[in-house]
Amino acid sequence: MFSFCPHCGQTLTQKQVEGAAVACEYCKKPIGVVAITRREAVNEADELIRGGTAARCAACQQVVALKSATARTLVPHYAAGTRKICPGSGKPAPPPSPLRGRGAGGEGAVPVPEPASVDKVTGMNSDVIKGISLQQGGEPRIEVLTLSYLDKRDRVRIQIDALREMLGPNFRMSEYPAALKRPHLTMWTTGTACFVAAKHPGGGCQSIGDGEVAAVIAEMRDKAALFLTAVGDGSRSPSASG
Ligand SMILES: [Zn+2]
Ligand SMILES: [Zn+2]
Repeated sequence: MFSFCPHCGQTLTQKQVEGAAVACEYCKKPIGVVAITRREAVNEADELIRGGTAARCAACQQVVALKSATARTLVPHYAAGTRKICPGSGKPAPPPSPLRGRGAGGEGAVPVPEPASVDKVTGMNSDVIKGISLQQGGEPRIEVLTLSYLDKRDRVRIQIDALREMLGPNFRMSEYPAALKRPHLTMWTTGTACFVAAKHPGGGCQSIGDGEVAAVIAEMRDKAALFLTAVGDGSRSPSASG
């Protein structure tokens, strides 16, 4: 959405439709095309299977961690709802089925950039960014943001718009917690909510590598405080005005 006209500086009040061109209601000059933003949550089990860190056990149908991505052997686990070791423990896992036709994944922690695709008809660029969000007191959620925009120079601005929608107005960019040693990741946090994705060499963010999703979710679960207090001291700051 455009909040003001870059030509005449007036604040815009007109209705703006995603994907449609906007001309200023005052000076009538063209401003641009309203970006399209979509946000969807992804099932964690599906994502772990796709990332090559887990598989569905043929014996008990549970999603079970793999000993390693290369060995593809199921770790020992209990059969569903029991304290008995499942006979599928230690057995080779079924191969991952390609989901939604995207990359194979599982090849270590290096994020694979999703190339921005261009719609030949509308000329809109489309970015798909997979990251993980966390709300205070909640569970980490895998989020897929689809951002469409006409002008490539708008890429980072549209990302910031989407983050504002997700986190509220008072977020800021921060390094991924240094103790966790993932310098290629970045996060935006408000102190009570955060979103983690991979750094994009051109600024802003891009998808986290499929093979890294499980590890980041585990870190967010185990060390939520590192993600939610990264802005200032996280709790009450000594107030100036009271
Ligand atoms: Zn104008
Ligand atoms: Zn099993």
